[in-house]
Amino acid sequence: MTHTDLSPELIRTLACRIRDSEYILIGAGAGLSADAGYDYLESAEFLKRYPYLERVGVHCRYHSIGFEWPTKSMEWAFYARQLEQDLYGVPPHPEPYVRLRELTDHANRWVFTSNADDLFCRLDFDPARIWTVQGTFSNLQCLRPCCADVWESRTYVERLLPAIDLNTGELTDRSLVPLCPRCGGDMMLNVRGGSWFVERPYEGQQAAFQGWLRKAVGGQLLVIEIGAGFNTPSVIRWPCEAITARHNGAHLIRINPQHPKTQFPVGERATVVAMRASPVLSAVATRG
Ligand SMILES: [Zn+2]
Repeated sequence: MTHTDLSPELIRTLACRIRDSEYILIGAGAGLSADAGYDYLESAEFLKRYPYLERVGVHCRYHSIGFEWPTKSMEWAFYARQLEQDLYGVPPHPEPYVRLRELTDHANRWVFTSNADDLFCRLDFDPARIWTVQGTFSNLQCLRPCCADVWESRTYVERLLPAIDLNTGELTDRSLVPLCPRCGGDMMLNVRGGSWFVERPYEGQQAAFQGWLRKAVGGQLLVIEIGAGFNTPSVIRWPCEAITARHNGAHLIRINPQHPKTQFPVGERATVVAMRASPVLSAVATRG
């Protein structure tokens, strides 16, 4: 059933579902981080921070993904400033993540997410129970790649930040462009953007997640899927529906204002809320 407003009955239903669940799987897409202030489609604030990107055609975070940058210097100056804001900065609105954690702390919980901003980890979810399916901004890798190693991005970002010309968006010292410590080739953020993606750092998370899921589907499993639309539905959205459809003891709570409709045969075992996460989680936490 799809809900479009927060009736007291819906709030109670969600609160009871969450409270009574032994196992909770959280599947989170870009919509949850957009609610926390990292909106990949937001343009006005983005261009205020990066006015020089307007002329190259990058008007929001989303445009920067897979973008063919005019120079490596501009590309790395952007990554450094983006990571400074989205990875090391304080999230503008952490509430939806914090509410979600508090509401589900009692349960045997796992998170899988396409978000590379490490917000689950930064907002005190157990890092041993998070699978960052698409990688993380915390790591850099070789773009070739010549090896399965990754390097902590922070060291590079700290070196790059003081060398950025804020008028041009270029580095004042182009020799600072990160190069692979092994082969000297180009580096890239360790996020899934092509066949070059180095998967190895996440294989342990994936194996642990699958082990947990085998156990969880034998009990009362609640799947809470938030903000996962149709950019890459095979990563979070469809797995959440498929897990629910396959296991009779599982129930799905989907929170998604734009794409609420389920496609897998989950029958009555889905509570769909066509709203943003922030007001929903806040209402459940305070009035549930
Ligand atoms: Zn290399």
